[in-house]
Amino acid sequence: MSESLATAVAAETTNDPSARIRHFLDTHRPSTPCLVLDLDVVGQNYRRLRAALPDARIFYAVKANPHPEVVRLLVGLGACFDVASTGEIDLCLAQGAAPETISYGNTIKKAADIAYAHARGVRLFVLDSAQDVAHLAEHAPGASVFCRVLVEADGARTPFGKKFGCAPEMAVELLREAGERGLDVRGVSFHVGSQHVDPSAWELGIARAAQVAAAGVPVGLVNLGGGFPSTYTEAVPALTEYAAAVERALERHFGAARPELIIEPGRALVGDAGMIRSEVVLVSRKSVEDTHRWVYLDVGRYNGMAECEGEAIAYRLRTAHDGGPDGPVVIAGPTCDGDDVLYQRTAYRLPLALAAGDHVDIPCTGAYTASYSSVSFNGFPPLTTHVIGAKQI
Ligand SMILES: *Cc1c(COP(=O)(O)O)cnc(C)c1O
Repeated sequence: MSESLATAVAAETTNDPSARIRHFLDTHRPSTPCLVLDLDVVGQNYRRLRAALPDARIFYAVKANPHPEVVRLLVGLGACFDVASTGEIDLCLAQGAAPETISYGNTIKKAADIAYAHARGVRLFVLDSAQDVAHLAEHAPGASVFCRVLVEADGARTPFGKKFGCAPEMAVELLREAGERGLDVRGVSFHVGSQHVDPSAWELGIARAAQVAAAGVPVGLVNLGGGFPSTYTEAVPALTEYAAAVERALERHFGAARPELIIEPGRALVGDAGMIRSEVVLVSRKSVEDTHRWVYLDVGRYNGMAECEGEAIAYRLRTAHDGGPDGPVVIAGPTCDGDDVLYQRTAYRLPLALAAGDHVDIPCTGAYTASYSSVSFNGFPPLTTHVIGAKQI
């Protein structure tokens, strides 16, 4: 891990979207912890994704960062939205999204929530169960539907496991049933798992979609999901490599019968647009001979760093003492919860000079940080977000 940490640090110096954020933090000195999000970077990421996959419609996965200004910016750029709840539908509509640009992408939804979405004008829904087909036929009559197939692709840093999707054979049955009940059958979706570092993973989902098509179900649409990465400590393939892998798989499995495409990026749009500034609360050792210092930050797993669970995401850390002598550390959050430890197996090192009151900046924290931090567990408030950049849009 320490080797890849070094590589990432080198990469960071060549391409550093957080420079403007640091300037904002140093000028305005907001209280910590806080997330600063640069909307211009979100816009750049949107344009980069569109250039890499020009014929895919982009549905932003709102859960990655539901800040209203992010949604408003993306409405202005012509994006569509992947939502998981009535709350996210209301958020998108309030920021000016047209209902026909919203996809209800959660396979787990109450009948009442389907009815609510339909009443608000949402017309595109995912399903992966017979129960959902029945609910959709009843509460969203005539709506367009696609079926999520299960794809278990190694290489996701935060995998979905088996929670969503069904076997392709079942997808065939469900979509047939949906068609018979008057729903408009559009095709198939999958999600290879978030922060996926292997572009070839998409082939498995595309092959499954083709399998559904081969059984005679109309698959005019393939929703390639999210999974496109941000850059943490580990090097990741370029977006163009993902696009090339998708192209190859479409050619191989669909040939001339190329379907319409959707992607649902979350992390890839907002991840590197944000940086958290935290403060060191305490540095200590557990005994005089302890080889590791414990560094306690004012940000932890319950106020922004949820993706440190299982040490799934290894964030870069930056301090004003970088470059000086350093040593091994365990890094923990501020709450009285024994699980509020960020890194104890991942070999992090921090400067020996680091002391209480110093800042630790955490780049690439625009995704899955503030959105997970919604209750004041233990009296520590949810992560505050400051937005900079294209506010005028
Ligand atoms: C969370 C989610 C996404 C976004 O995934 P990323 O890996 O952040 O791009 C896309 N689609 C669905 C259905 C999701 O639940």
